[in-house]
Amino acid sequence: MQKANKIFINIHGHRQANNIQEWVMMNLMAKDYPPEDIENGYYSVGYHPYNVGKVDDEDTLKKVRLSTENLNVFAIGEIGLDKSIEAPLEHQMRVFESQVEIAEFADLPVILHVVKAFNELVEFMKVHKPVVPMIIHGYNGSSQMAETLLNSGFLLSFGEAIAKEHSKIVESLLTVPVDKLFFETDEGDLDIREIYHFAAEVKGISLDHLRVQIYENARTHLTRFADLF
Ligand SMILES: [Zn+2]
Repeated sequence: MQKANKIFINIHGHRQANNIQEWVMMNLMAKDYPPEDIENGYYSVGYHPYNVGKVDDEDTLKKVRLSTENLNVFAIGEIGLDKSIEAPLEHQMRVFESQVEIAEFADLPVILHVVKAFNELVEFMKVHKPVVPMIIHGYNGSSQMAETLLNSGFLLSFGEAIAKEHSKIVESLLTVPVDKLFFETDEGDLDIREIYHFAAEVKGISLDHLRVQIYENARTHLTRFADLF
């Protein structure tokens, strides 16, 4: 696949590509690794905070480690911290830290699920200073928080929330420089091209300019994408 094919990068989805222009990184819970059709797509694999306390830590982390040996696995994720669920934060943090170590060892980026725990994450960056790209998926916070996160070294991915013309998200999107950005469909129904369309309008740049920039971001930050495309 070449740039001429006009690829729209979808950094985080839960389905295969649904149009010829889309390149999607499908998310897979580590407990379900490996899927039968591992060869048919590109994946992020991670021990999600939702599963903390429900699966065996050692077994599940082993699956994450094992998954990095498959070249169709492009990232560790989604992993992170979630204060809206019952699993103790301290347990979530242990699981999270172990996986960032795996990502560093395999030189793979991290896709982050963060709910009400941005400050903890910023603190984590200060202490651990991971060198692999750390991409916060489904960002829907304020522009002030976006700035704090960018200054801490995170990249931000936006999803269908920007299409709902929610003013807070639009403001946040304006704050993020295009070279720190990704887009995603996550579990939503929107076509990834539509999300780009809205974002280009907000940013005041052409759809094609935005598409090429995000493609370059993928080449810069996704080691295995750069090897392939
Ligand atoms: Zn997701």
